[in-house]
Amino acid sequence: MTFSIHGLAVARGIAIGRAVLVASSRVDVAHYFIESSEVAAEIDRLRKARDEVIDELQRLQRDMPKDAPHELGALLDVHLMLLQDDELNASVVHWIKERLYNAEWALASQLEVISRQFDEMDDPYLRERIADVEQVAERVLQSLKGTGSLVTKVSRPSRPQQELQLGDTDVPLVLVAHDLSPADMLQFKQSVFTGFVTDVGGKTSHTAIVARSLDIPAVVGARTASQLVKQDDWVIIDGDAGVVIVDPSPIVLADYGFKQRQGDLERERLARLRHTPAITLDGQKIELLANIEMPEDTQAAITAGAIGVGLFRSEFLFMGRQGNLPGEDEQYEAYRRAVDGMKGLPVTVRTVDVGADKPLDDTRHDAAHLNPALGLRAIRWSLADPSMFLTQLRAILRAAAHGQVNLLIPMLAHGSEIRQTLALIDQARHELDRRGEAYGPVRLGAMIEIPAAALSLRLFLKYFDFLSIGTNDLIQYTLAIDRADESVAHLYDPLHPAVLRLIADTIAECDRQGKGVSVCGEMAGDVSMTRLLLGLGLRSFSMHPSQILLVKQQVLRSDTAKLAPWADQVLASDEPSGLMTP
Ligand code: PEP
Ligand code: MG
Repeated sequence: MTFSIHGLAVARGIAIGRAVLVASSRVDVAHYFIESSEVAAEIDRLRKARDEVIDELQRLQRDMPKDAPHELGALLDVHLMLLQDDELNASVVHWIKERLYNAEWALASQLEVISRQFDEMDDPYLRERIADVEQVAERVLQSLKGTGSLVTKVSRPSRPQQELQLGDTDVPLVLVAHDLSPADMLQFKQSVFTGFVTDVGGKTSHTAIVARSLDIPAVVGARTASQLVKQDDWVIIDGDAGVVIVDPSPIVLADYGFKQRQGDLERERLARLRHTPAITLDGQKIELLANIEMPEDTQAAITAGAIGVGLFRSEFLFMGRQGNLPGEDEQYEAYRRAVDGMKGLPVTVRTVDVGADKPLDDTRHDAAHLNPALGLRAIRWSLADPSMFLTQLRAILRAAAHGQVNLLIPMLAHGSEIRQTLALIDQARHELDRRGEAYGPVRLGAMIEIPAAALSLRLFLKYFDFLSIGTNDLIQYTLAIDRADESVAHLYDPLHPAVLRLIADTIAECDRQGKGVSVCGEMAGDVSMTRLLLGLGLRSFSMHPSQILLVKQQVLRSDTAKLAPWADQVLASDEPSGLMTP
């Protein structure tokens, strides 16, 4: 039966595929695709694990004391029966053969199918028998740990990412999960999935941001999607409307297939703008820069015609490493790869911004704190660990010997933080001098993402060469809206008069002082905001490569001289959204 689920549109386009449900990332199950040549071995691995559990249970049965409760024996019988159930075993094998899932994933998938069947049972006694199936599956999963590659988390395949290929099956797959951390999402880059749906997350949550950087359709905040969608269901993800259609009828499928082809044609048309300079109708040159998460993303930036990287979110180098932070040389190599990748164009490296919805990994999850977004995040985290921060600063300074590098500091609010940061940058230079290591000059920039910073521009401009407005956080902190919480997503408003005032003042003050200013939050890549930002005087936008050509198209059609008076009216209005079509 067809039904639809509504969420938040975060990455445009249409994806059509079979659902791959990954359980919550708290479940200790490996998920990766095997090669078709490995199917027999994987089935054998499963069989061995199952036999091991059967042996163990039979041993328990044999050794059971005479006075043991009768129920215990009955329970072992049930478990043994389940383990030897042909139908159950065949269903698990099906996932391995047909979908090329690894044994653990196959077992977890079938467990989920069975759980739903049990859920639908009327008899409460029978419904509760799912616990036996779960216990048996857990034992087999445990036994599989000893027999092959084991990954600790759903989203961290033990195999190198390039091996996460579709294998022999060419059915398009879409990923449906309750939640995925930004690090999880990163693991799925270049993976087989053609679309994503998650139950939780706001439009500018970091999970959504990484989904956007993958440039595949995605819907977040779809609440109960991971419970409503079943393994292997056909699913349409409409990333423009934020809708997920489950089990679509042939007519709906045909309709979306048509929309998908239209989208592809539109992309091809936009690609022709790649070499066109971003100049407005009245001759204003606009800088369109790329936001990247990994050095390899520079390729997409170049392909999209970016004239530099405006934001390299370096924290992605630090995530999912179970506390083993990258050393100076590893970081230097990564920054250098980004510099080389941009072929002489500038690269703005932002120092690490972990915390809030970007935990380093699950063992150091910041959610333990009551208000993680207000806690030890970004520069606060760096200043709390000067040796870690100095390591990163030295690596960035060394990479600057190979090209134009800007150094950007996130989440500053206090003069004392600014002074400590600058002192550490000096110290990093001295340390490199002492080692006789080559390093290059950097322009220094600060993110404006806390209202206090936007209201202390003179202080910031005394110390920094340029400012970069992080609208994602600036909106979050100005309106007191958790950007990762879908339940308050409707209050997350880039057009709130207070937000616009802070953005406009920052642009104007930088202009007055002849300092560079750009916007690097999601607002910069939102085409519906391009004209307003141009009207407010913004000339530098940094966004995901996938948005650059769309924004460029808008720039080419704009006349800033005409937009400025209209933008002033929007700024002065109590209801700016009502004036949004100039
Ligand atoms: C922002 O806050 O707008 C920003 C660009 O930083 P991040 O999204 O990484 O917090
Ligand atoms: Mg930010």
